[in-house]
Order: sequence, then structure tokens, then C-alpha cells
Amino acid sequence: MNMRRSDEGWVMNIQNFSVNDGEGIRTTVFLAGCAMRCPWCANPEGGSLRNPMTTLMSANDVLSQVIRQLPFLRGSGGGVTFSGGEPTFQLPFLRTLSSRLYDAGVSLALETCGTFSYPEAADVLQLMDLIFIDFKHPDPDEHLRWTGRPLALVLENLRDVAESGIDYVVRIPTIIGLNAEVATICRLLDTLAEITPGAKLEFLPYHTLGFGKYEALGRPVPSGFATPSEGEMDKFRELASERGLVPVSYR
Ligand code: SF4
Repeated sequence: MNMRRSDEGWVMNIQNFSVNDGEGIRTTVFLAGCAMRCPWCANPEGGSLRNPMTTLMSANDVLSQVIRQLPFLRGSGGGVTFSGGEPTFQLPFLRTLSSRLYDAGVSLALETCGTFSYPEAADVLQLMDLIFIDFKHPDPDEHLRWTGRPLALVLENLRDVAESGIDYVVRIPTIIGLNAEVATICRLLDTLAEITPGAKLEFLPYHTLGFGKYEALGRPVPSGFATPSEGEMDKFRELASERGLVPVSYR
């Protein structure tokens, strides 16, 4: 088992007073690097470790910023959320940060796209109170085509997270041009109901808030995607409930 730690890593941002990434008020630490290549990504600076929008930080620097927020986090029942990019992409750095915060009694959450080696990451995952894990497309060929990574790994990790006993929420980026049609959502929900019956899930509608980052990086903004209507989102939540899945919202 790989238990490596690292005292420095590439950070995209540390965002205080976040209310969308778990219970209560959160400080969200965005770690750079991601194995997927989703063309709709809202955080394109997370696609590589080192770029004009990332900073190499020591664990002590990250932790000292987070610790200043502890009165707000604890007073609200909140904590720290690791996001990205894909936080497990820098697993040794994530291990250092999360184990030190865990030892300090801070509640932790993780947002992951589901592309990690479960045996290597299990010790870090066990420190989390809540894991958000993405499920983007139910068709193996389409999943590979859109993200560059195999669906099988994501499903395997979903199953392992569900069986670990850690609280988790399946997050579904819901995007016209990718998956936001009834037949695809039904297939995705049928898969979920089979491998993680009764799972909590959250549909996340496509947004364009990351477009400014593409411009800052000198890259073209995503095209060919659109946001489903409120009515469509309600329909998808209804389809989930019909299958015994539990729609939740952290928005
Ligand atoms: S998995 Fe998330 S962070 Fe990685 S490329 Fe896809 S949308 Fe972006």
C-alpha cells in the first residue's frame, strides 16, 4: 500500500465561506491536476499541476490559512472540503493535509471524479466525513470519449466507496450535449440503482462560470453544451426517486 506524504503541492485556490461543498460553512482547498479531460470543465486550470493559475504551496502554508477559519467552520457545523481538479491526483499532498486536519478534529469532505486507485487512496478516504463522487455518463464508449478515462474504474470506485460506510453523494453534471436527455439519464440512474441502491445523488446543471479562466489561459471556451431547464432538472430528480435513489441539494 502506498502511504507516501508530501509537504508541498500545487494549489489552484483556497476558498473561504463556501456553502456548496458539504455541511455548514466550508473552506474549500482546490488541488491542481486531473486525469480526466472533460471539454465542459469549469476549472480548466486544474487540468495540469503547473500553469499560470496554480501555486506551489507548502502544507504548513495551506494549513495556516485553513486554521484561521476554524472558528467559522466549527461554529456552523462545517469543515474543509478538498476539490480540484481531482484532489487524489496529488495523493501524497492530500494525505498530509487531510491527516493533519483530521488529527485537529476538523470535519473533512472530498469532491472526486472517481478516477483513483482505491487501495492506494483508502486510508485518505477513511478520514472523510463525506465524499462527493461524480458519475458523468453511463455508456462506456461515450464516457471514455468525453473524459478520456474508463467508466469501469469510476463504477468500481463508486461501489467501493458505497461499501466503505463513508457517507457519500453521487454528483451528476447535467449537461445538454453530454447526458441531459431522458434516455441517457434513465440508463445512468438504472446503473446507479443497481450498484449503489438508495444512494443520495445531486444533479449539477451545466454553467459557464469558468469561461473567464479559459480566456485567462488563452484557450477557447467550451462550446456545444447548454444548461437544462428547471423543468428538465425536476424530471431527472423524479426519475431518480422512482428508482429509490435520493435527490439532495447542496446548492
Ligand atoms: S473531472 Fe472535473 S476537474 Fe477533471 S476535467 Fe473533468 S470536470 Fe474538470
